[in-house]
Amino acid sequence: MSQAGPRVVVVGESVAGATTVRRLRALGHTGPLTLVGAEPGGGPNRPPLSKHVLDGAQHDDTLGHALDGLDIELVRVAATGLDPAARTLCLADGRALAYDALVLATGAEPRRLAGPGQRGELVLRTLPDAQALRARLDTARSALVVGSGVLGMEVASACARRGVPVTVVDRQPPLERVLGGYLSGLLTARAEAAGIEVLVVDGDVALVGDPVSGLRLPDGTVLSADVVVTCAGDTPCTNWLAGTELAGPHGVHVDEQCRTAVPGIWAVGDVACLDTPCSGRTPFWSQAVAMAGVAAASVLGLPPSGPPTDDYFWTSVAGTSVKAVGPLPVHGPPDDVEGDPDTGNALLTWRHDGGPDTVVAHGRPITAGRLRARSRAGARSSVPAPA
Ligand SMILES: Cc1cc2nc3c(=O)[nH]c(=O)nc-3n(C[C@H](O)[C@H](O)[C@H](O)COP(=O)(O)OP(=O)(O)OC[C@H]3O[C@@H](n4cnc5c(N)ncnc54)[C@H](O)[C@@H]3O)c2cc1C
Repeated sequence: MSQAGPRVVVVGESVAGATTVRRLRALGHTGPLTLVGAEPGGGPNRPPLSKHVLDGAQHDDTLGHALDGLDIELVRVAATGLDPAARTLCLADGRALAYDALVLATGAEPRRLAGPGQRGELVLRTLPDAQALRARLDTARSALVVGSGVLGMEVASACARRGVPVTVVDRQPPLERVLGGYLSGLLTARAEAAGIEVLVVDGDVALVGDPVSGLRLPDGTVLSADVVVTCAGDTPCTNWLAGTELAGPHGVHVDEQCRTAVPGIWAVGDVACLDTPCSGRTPFWSQAVAMAGVAAASVLGLPPSGPPTDDYFWTSVAGTSVKAVGPLPVHGPPDDVEGDPDTGNALLTWRHDGGPDTVVAHGRPITAGRLRARSRAGARSSVPAPA
């Protein structure tokens, strides 16, 4: 270990990796710090890809993560392997990087449905993905989206905004798995009013054509469209960790300090799976930021400034923003309604015994901080008064 502190290497140059290096410096780490990233121009901030980049090119150059003034070594080469015993990371260009502490922030990649050799499947994860989809939408007369989760509904909303007739196909109603039935119903109505056709099917769909030109539904019906986009979830980027004990089907398992089972290695963001009571892989932006802060403190042997979780979540469907804090999904109608949910201007609250409320701003401008305060106020008011 160097005099100035441990040699820290962070793999993955997107929100989790960039936040980790920023937090390490902010917490006083003055030792050597290397950030390794596989995307040629750096990983973009991804939420705007589906909310703005599909509409036009004006945001393309504004998505990078600020790294100026951090005195880091930036290595834009993929990591290909790891020797935990020797504390060495292998790179695609043949180099090996020694580390005292390693933070894995390699995120996730889209789950694909194309068969072997089938060409032309469209997904949305990177800036080139978004630019390619945008170019296809320039001339498309129809679109199909597989998956009506957060990403699928944002892509469908972009199609509708651009005047491209679009059908979303899924086994479940839009956003039901993430948000629950009540909010799904509300947002499905908004989506349909904006011209998005929603198709709930009873089984798996398959891509047809080479290049892909449509979908085969479980009942054998084939739908065709100019653009077919797969938004069917993601898988953690752990292939390069094969042969280590770190990689599992749900990502890299970590404890509440984001430590893996291997000494000297932490994991954060979409690649990480928390083994704590509210456990699991939560592939959302705010969660990546929270984990990065916790891991940076842990690497330096400092107490964490907060939990490795953040339940703030936002999306946008058919022009209406949805911001939520608190446990999701929520079932049944809200306990408290301010405003009018049907017109997309409401603040909705679900109360939970002994815990924070779920507070959802549906089309209402409100900061994450105010939503958090409302959610926590619910937790306080549900604590029984002392006898
Ligand atoms: C289009 C889109 C819209 C989204 N919208 C929202 C939203 O509205 N709200 C929300 O909460 N979340 C949203 N998300 C999810 C959010 O963007 C992710 O949770 C977040 O990007 C996770 O950050 P990460 O740094 O962990 O992983 P990633 O963003 O996946 O970044 C990982 C980086 O690691 C790199 N990498 C992978 N393997 C290697 C390797 N072997 N060597 C070196 N580098 C490697 C990758 O190239 C990538 O740059 C959205 C995601 C997408 C794709």
